[in-house]
Formats: sequence, C-alpha cells, structure tokens
Amino acid sequence: MLEASNVYLPLDAALPSCAGMAQAELAHALGIRYADITSWKFSKLSVDARRKNDVHFTASFVFEVADQEIEEALAGKRTKTKIQVKRHVPYEGYRVGEWLGGDAHPIVVGMGPAGLFAAWALAKSGAAPIVLERGEDVDARMASVNSFKEGGALNPESNVQFGEGGAGTFSDGKLTTNIKNPRCRDVLHIFAQAGAPEEILWEGKPHIGTDKLVNVVKTMREQIIAWGGEVRFGARFEGMEFEDGRIVAVRGSQRQEDGTREKFVLPASDVVLACGHSARDVFDRVRNAGLLMERKPFAVGVRIEHPQKLIDKAQYGNAAGHPALGAADYKMAVHLRNDRSVYTFCMCPGGEVMCSASELGGVVVNGASRHARNGRNANAALLVNVEDRDLRGDDVLAGVKLQRRMETAAYRAAGESYKAPAQRVGDFMASAGKFNRSQSEHRSRLEVEPTYARGVEWVDLNQVLPPFVARSLHAAIPLFNGRIRGFSDPNAVLTGVETRSSSPVRIVRDKATCQALFSQTTDCGLKIADELAGAAAASRTAEGEPIAGGFYPCGEGAGYAGGIMSAAVDGLRVAEAIIASYE
Ligand code: FAD
Repeated sequence: MLEASNVYLPLDAALPSCAGMAQAELAHALGIRYADITSWKFSKLSVDARRKNDVHFTASFVFEVADQEIEEALAGKRTKTKIQVKRHVPYEGYRVGEWLGGDAHPIVVGMGPAGLFAAWALAKSGAAPIVLERGEDVDARMASVNSFKEGGALNPESNVQFGEGGAGTFSDGKLTTNIKNPRCRDVLHIFAQAGAPEEILWEGKPHIGTDKLVNVVKTMREQIIAWGGEVRFGARFEGMEFEDGRIVAVRGSQRQEDGTREKFVLPASDVVLACGHSARDVFDRVRNAGLLMERKPFAVGVRIEHPQKLIDKAQYGNAAGHPALGAADYKMAVHLRNDRSVYTFCMCPGGEVMCSASELGGVVVNGASRHARNGRNANAALLVNVEDRDLRGDDVLAGVKLQRRMETAAYRAAGESYKAPAQRVGDFMASAGKFNRSQSEHRSRLEVEPTYARGVEWVDLNQVLPPFVARSLHAAIPLFNGRIRGFSDPNAVLTGVETRSSSPVRIVRDKATCQALFSQTTDCGLKIADELAGAAAASRTAEGEPIAGGFYPCGEGAGYAGGIMSAAVDGLRVAEAIIASYE
C-alpha cells in the first residue's frame, strides 16, 4: 500500500458522489492510468483557500495499485508539483502496557477528555480505575443543560462545565491542536472507534460536533466499565491525604438520591486530578493542601457573532456554499501597540453561543456547534491576554478572582437572570467614541440574531468589561476587519463574558512525575518540570511545595492542556506513566 500527499483536488472531486473524479485526479497526478489504482481512501483533506479564485483541496491518499512494478516505481517518488509517494504504514492501534499494580486501583478525578482518556487507558491495561465525576451522566446532564438554557435553574454540579464528558461535551468538538504528539493520532482513532464520524481521521481540521460527542463519551464509559473500571457520578473530590511524601487517600462526598451528600474516604496510591479549569473549589483545596501552584497566562473577552454566510464569502469568495466545503472557519490574532494580544478562539461555524455558567450568580459564554455546522450564525471568542499587572496582589488564584469579578458583573448587567449582556459592534465602538453611530447604522445591512438561548440584555459592554479588555477590543476589531471583510460590521453581536477559555493557574508537577511524563516525547507549549518547578518555586506568584508521589495533576485545569485534543493526550500520557511506575 502507498500513500501520496499534496495532491491538488478540485472541490467537486471531494464530494462522496464524485469518487471516480478523485481517483482520476490521483492517477493523473502520479502519471498512471485510472485502472492501475485498485483501491483508495483519503488520509488527509485540507481546504486551501489562500487564493479566492482557486479554492481547492490538498489531499493525501492511501491507495493500492494492481501491478507490483508500478508500486516499486511509485514508492519514494517526488513529482514537480511536490507530490510525495511513500509506503503506507498502517495504524496499529493504541498500545498500553499490562497492569502490574495488582489491587492498587488508580483513582481518576473528573471525566472530561483528560480524565476520560486516562481512565480509558488505565482500564484497557487492566488497572480497573475508579472514576469520580461530580456531575451527572451525559443523558441526565443534557437534561440539566437544556433546562438551564430554557430558563430553568442552574445546577452548579452538572452543567456545561461539569459532568460526564467534561467541558467539551457541549462544544464544536474541534480536535485541532498546536501540540505535536504521536498520541494525537491515537486520540482520533479512539474517538472514531467510539463512534465519532470517520472523517476525523483524514480531515485537516477534524471536528465531532456536540450531537455526536455525547454518544462517543457514553461509548467510552461503557468500554471503561467493560474492562473492569468503575464510574461514580455525583461523586465529588474534596481533598486528599499524604504520608511520607505519597498520596494515600482521597476524600469526597457522594450525592444521594434525596439530594443529600454522604462523605467517603478512598485509600489511594495513584490519583489523576483532571478536574478542568472551572473547579475553583478544587484549586482552593490544592492550595490549602500546600501543593505548589503558579499563575499561568490566560485570556478573557467576549463572543462575536456574524451570519455564517458572511464568513463563508470572506473565506471562500465565489466558492462559498459549495457542498464539499461546508461552513468556513477563521483564526486570527493581532498584537496591539499597547503590547496586548487579541485573538479569536474556539471558532464555531454554524454554531450557538452557549450558556456556560457553573457558579450561581455568574454569566459565562462559550461556543458550540452540531456536527453539520448548519446554524445561521458563526461565533468565536474574542480574547485579550491577561497580564500580571491586571491582577490584584500576589495571590496565586488572583486570575480566578478576575474571572469571577467579570462573571458577576455580567450577571448583574443583564438583570440577574442568567441572560447574557450583549451589544452590537457599532454601539460598542460608538459609545467609546470609535465609530459614528448614525453612519454605522446606515452602512450595515446585516441582520444578526443572537443565539444565546437564555436571551440577551442589550447593555453597554464598555461598562461591564475591565477597561483593558474593552480598549483592546476597540483597537483589534477594525484590524480583524482587514482580514475578514464585514468582521467589524456595526450589526455584528458581542456577547459577554468569555472567561473560561483556559486555566489561570497551574498545579506544578514534581520533577519525577514530569520526567516520567515527558521523557519520550517533546510537547511544544508544555514546559519540562525541572524548569517549571524551579521557576514556579522562585516566582512571586507561586505558592506551596512540589507535588507528592502518586498524585498526577492532569489536563486543562492543572495547566497542562488547552482544548480537547491536548487534554486527551495528557490523559493518555499520565495513564502510561502510572502503568510504567509498576513495571
Ligand atoms: P474538563 O473537560 O473541564 O473536565 C473536568 C471534569 O472534572 C468535569 O467533568 C468536571 O465535572 C469534573 N470535576 C471537576 N471538579 C471535580 C471534583 N471536585 N470531583 C469530581 N469531578 C470533578 N476545546 C476544543 O478543543 N474544541 C472545542 O471545540 C471546544 N469547544 C468548547 C465549547 C465549550 C462550550 C466549552 C465549555 C469548552 C470548549 N472547549 C473546546 C474546551 C475543552 O472543552 C477543554 O479544553 C477540555 O474539556 C479540557 O479537558 P479536561 O479534561 O482537562 O477538563
């Protein structure tokens, strides 16, 4: 079997109904006959929209040829058009060592991507992990989330941030990442085997969609249980006990059917803490346990909404609407003269602005899409980086306090009913003296209906956002318009506040843990422990002692991931380290 990469593919040829055309393009590109190819499938398919008058796909194919001689001639070939052919190395499946830890069942706290993948790999090895998840199973959780969206009460234990599947369950399910780690391929295959659409294995920018993710998560839970693991919902981690530098127990409480909670203590030799970035009570507990934490960079801002058609046109020109393309996305960043960075994040084509609060008295937004991405609006976070000077005092949890202040301000501004404060771009800029209001109204023909399900309250966001955020957005929005025409349209909608895009704190791993985790691979963006622990211990904004043995802070909340893919990879990596520690 061979693999050819970098093949130019017209849009039509990527349609499932035009498989013959794709085969013809491949044969033509390789200088062989159509009939020489006996089977093929895509192994990568990325849109190239750099030139709007030539939007096309760049494809990689895995294929077979009938003739041995042709195969020999093609293997290793490089064409003038930069097509490369090599022998295909098939994926052999995720391999994990055998569990040699006997009855030392590892405990995994949290069932977001980090905890889910850690538990999945531990269960596959035979470790029979016990998963403690504070929220509900995904079906009950969906009912809680929908009830909140429709005006019901917020369940602080089970919502868009908390519950089976974690924060990414009600998301676009984008699986793109900046990390380069061989486990990314494993994550895609594990997701696909659990029912995610097969295209995630070859799409340049794979995404699952909230509607499909729900079932994928359920299937992975069933696998964990089938392999001997145990999953406890409504089980909240509330502390841990150490002896001689090792973790020996976790404390928690289990929700009962009548709503009361029953305390428990579980003996433990290995604990994966994968609690996500919204478990602020856990951050307090880790700090109170005296473990080393440090501030880490994060960002805050708002969501911006445009009609999806505007984004399609801006990105794909006349090709917009072609059935092979689907809804267009974007990703932009600017560095401002005031030294701030403003960037778009977690763009959800054809999506919805999600009611993402997890604390009573706070409003939080984020974005989600269904797999089809066929909603009327595109939305993305518009984020401004937070610097140390924006935080009050030296407290390691000062970032959490800033997030909470913004969430409370948003709640109050929108009438204390969990509606979200929103403003049209034209008004946002005008009230800061940046646009002339009547001119901007005259110019715009856009109609943008906000998608935040609980409804929005039209307010002046300049009065809600911290001044450094509002000022940076004023400067950045017109600059983004230079890249996506219509981005700064006066009728585009800003909805606040987006505060949970990443964790403002890191739970510093000790040297031994990090060596075990990072020895095999290099992960860009994740600093190696020595450096990390050393820097944190010396920092004014870090507190505590390095982590004790057997305790593995993991995923986004612990500060080692940003997004579904990197959290899942971190989960696998931690599981592997635990398994290896018994070999
Ligand atoms: P989380 O997913 O936050 O999971 C933590 C889990 O721990 C939760 O299930 C929580 O209930 C549980 N927990 C917390 N405290 C306790 C406790 N005390 N005891 C027991 N359990 C506890 N990322 C992407 O890459 N692509 C996207 O398209 C995308 N869209 C998103 C859309 C939305 C609406 C949101 C909110 C996030 C989105 N993200 C997206 C971010 C992504 O979800 C996170 O980066 C990822 O989920 C982090 O994984 P995690 O496992 O580290 O933490």
